[in-house]
Amino acid sequence: MSGMNQVLEIDETNLTARVQPGVVTGELHAQLEARGLFYPPDPASAESSTVGGNVAENAGGLRAVKYGVTRDYVLALETVLATGKVIHTGRATMKNVTGYDLTRLLVGSEGTLGIFTEITLKLIPLPPVVGAVLFLFETAEAAAETTVALGRAGLMPRACEFMDKASLDAVAAYTHASLGAEAGAVLLVEVDGSAAAVAGELEIAKEVGAANGAFEDRTASDAEARDELWSVRRSISPALSTLSPGRVNEDVCLPRSELARYLARTRELAEEAGVPVANFGHMGDGNLHVNVLVPAEADEAAMEGVERLVTNLLESAVAMGGTLSGEHGIGTTKQPYLGLEIPPAEMALMRAVKKVFDPAGILNPGKIFPDD
Ligand SMILES: Cc1cc2nc3c(=O)[nH]c(=O)nc-3n(C[C@H](O)[C@H](O)[C@H](O)COP(=O)(O)OP(=O)(O)OC[C@H]3O[C@@H](n4cnc5c(N)ncnc54)[C@H](O)[C@@H]3O)c2cc1C
Repeated sequence: MSGMNQVLEIDETNLTARVQPGVVTGELHAQLEARGLFYPPDPASAESSTVGGNVAENAGGLRAVKYGVTRDYVLALETVLATGKVIHTGRATMKNVTGYDLTRLLVGSEGTLGIFTEITLKLIPLPPVVGAVLFLFETAEAAAETTVALGRAGLMPRACEFMDKASLDAVAAYTHASLGAEAGAVLLVEVDGSAAAVAGELEIAKEVGAANGAFEDRTASDAEARDELWSVRRSISPALSTLSPGRVNEDVCLPRSELARYLARTRELAEEAGVPVANFGHMGDGNLHVNVLVPAEADEAAMEGVERLVTNLLESAVAMGGTLSGEHGIGTTKQPYLGLEIPPAEMALMRAVKKVFDPAGILNPGKIFPDD
């Protein structure tokens, strides 16, 4: 779809954009922001991933904690079905409850129900001011408690990103830039709105951080300082891949109240398995990317241990009321674990939906559903 890369229309009156699926998300952001408009979904891959891919995966990203995920911004879709028939679902209206919501069903379908050829997105006005503060903690649990406390204090940051010690060390080795070498964990909190609201919210955030164990806070004084913080955050994935090319990147999402308990559990499980784990993610959403750092020299027996560890990590997340995947989807790698969360009756319904859209099974065969 990379050839279909045109922004077809930006409607400043109705606050919508009509785009082809191959538009790179970061390029769409730039075009809109130049006009004072905002499309909030911002996966950390925004400079390379496309709107079509984001819609297919219902991508989340850095700003989901305040603004929601891709699905919340898709108003209408043009989709080519497996039969070749072209359907148009949804309308470019703010509300629509006419019939079943096929648009929301198609978003996040991982290319298994149809191919999107045109996407109509909802936009909002660009918030005028953004501010960021980085908190340094001794423990990952203190960062989790702070995340919960920010919500209790009535704050809705637009981003609330977590990195543990292992992630910080990997980034420091990869970029030679450190966010806090002396910290056991950091939380990067960003707020937006009017200048007065941003200043006020940053003050409240700092009080909450200090009350929950932050031993230091560093406010980004300008856009350049903020970009520097974010460039470190965005380099975690390549940094961890360099450290462990075979890493297994999980994507669990938990009720926020369970984050501290889950982080402690990941450490216990990693120690039992003798395999290092790095945790980072969109903590404000309860979304943790648990990275199992598979050693380069792992033999067959070691890989069995890795598989057991992954299963235990996913089972623990589900047992704590969480989900297997917050934003990356199931694809092929999480397929064997789908049954941990989806009961047989729901699975049968999902398979039946797939059959209706794609009777011959030609759209992304082998994705999402495990073999019978
Ligand atoms: C460094 C890094 C950071 C990331 N950070 C995030 C993050 O913060 N949040 C997040 O949610 N994800 C993140 N991801 C995952 C990934 O970037 C997203 O899932 C993204 O939405 C995929 O978009 P893409 O254009 O790369 O799609 P692709 O990888 O090309 O495709 C993804 C799937 O969508 C299907 N598809 C693509 N286009 C269409 C279409 N037009 N119609 C139907 N199906 C289609 C494909 O068949 C495939 O199954 C990250 C990935 C990387 C590598």
